[in-house]
Amino acid sequence: MKTIEKYSFEGKRALIRVDFNVPLKEENGQMIITDDTRIRAALPTIKHVLNHGGSVVLMSHLGRPKNGYSEEFSLIHLINHLSDLLGSQVVFGGDCIGGGAFEITSKLPQGEVVLLDNLRFYSEETSGDKVFAEKLSKHGDVFVNDAFGTAHRAHASTAIIADFFPNDKLFGKLLADEIKSVDRVLHHSEKPVTAIVGGAKVSSKIAIIEQLINSVDHLIIGGGMAYTFIKAQGGNVGSSLVEDDYLEVANTILRKAKEKNVTIALPVDTVIADAFSNDANTKTCAINEIPDGWMGLDIADKTISNLENIITSSKTILWNGPMGVFEMEKFMKGTVRVAHSIVEATENGAFSLIGGGDSVAAINKFNLADKVSYVSTGGGAMLEYLEGKTLPAIAAIMSN
Ligand code: AMP
Repeated sequence: MKTIEKYSFEGKRALIRVDFNVPLKEENGQMIITDDTRIRAALPTIKHVLNHGGSVVLMSHLGRPKNGYSEEFSLIHLINHLSDLLGSQVVFGGDCIGGGAFEITSKLPQGEVVLLDNLRFYSEETSGDKVFAEKLSKHGDVFVNDAFGTAHRAHASTAIIADFFPNDKLFGKLLADEIKSVDRVLHHSEKPVTAIVGGAKVSSKIAIIEQLINSVDHLIIGGGMAYTFIKAQGGNVGSSLVEDDYLEVANTILRKAKEKNVTIALPVDTVIADAFSNDANTKTCAINEIPDGWMGLDIADKTISNLENIITSSKTILWNGPMGVFEMEKFMKGTVRVAHSIVEATENGAFSLIGGGDSVAAINKFNLADKVSYVSTGGGAMLEYLEGKTLPAIAAIMSN
């Protein structure tokens, strides 16, 4: 892997694609960053370059500006906070391909950091325009990609630009860690390997499940998608979330898993509600005996203790998707207990990867993110990587 550790940055300008797409809100006429996780995640790469004699030019997108420049989406709002985190003043480069920016980056002194303005002020960024990518490439002597969140997009600054650095293109620390953690689960895992897949819909997780049954020992299926499997097997699921178009697919997955000796753990009991609401009436029942008018919104105690046994005796764990409607207090328990089991397994030496949108939100909500091995920063990118797809930004750096 082409990583920054093996590269000499002495006297070089590193053009780093970061993911500074942070949430902002307006307070007293100022834009305030409400969650700086993505900025902090890029600091190790930036500091590495600075500590090894280089200078840094940072480029990122922020939000979805529609028609060119708009103050609301300017990265200027990040300058002060980024300077505080780095302990030195970051220079704002302005328009990412404007004359002023090139003026600054062409004479960049060693140890300095410049932040260019939002790449998406140009539609050429998302269309993957070659001319735009070439202009951007003039800001640096070496290209480093540290933006995992956009690695599944063939944008100008994520993939196309790499062609202009045939011998000087590298994975940043964050991107390298993301790749290594998925590879560890899929290809170099200590057994038993358990994948926990939950969330709302089977349709959005099919590709991942099909990939996972090639490499795991146990597949736990929870969340809303479990009811499609239960219905496919002839169970009564009341008004639970079901994708009727996927009943056949669900049965095929169960059959394939059996052929590959993968144990599938489906819920055996469920917390049901008479409305999709935290104020609903609730009770517990067997998952295949849900009365009409009731819906399953969480896994219940027998299932939880079954899952706890599987998870705590696993050596490698991947978690993607909550076990129930964890956003509501009444249906949070299954997801909380699964999260705690993953923490327990990790404390006993297992490698645990939390990958994909809502399980990341859940582990953060329960304040357990620092008690698992790795929490992915890239939602869509992580899902596509788990599905076995080639991510354009990764391919662009790997290619010769
Ligand atoms: P996903 O983005 O596919 O991982 O889905 C996450 C969403 O699935 C969360 O917002 C959960 O509230 C929701 N979810 C989990 N379990 C259920 C369920 N039993 N019924 C409906 N929605 C669910």
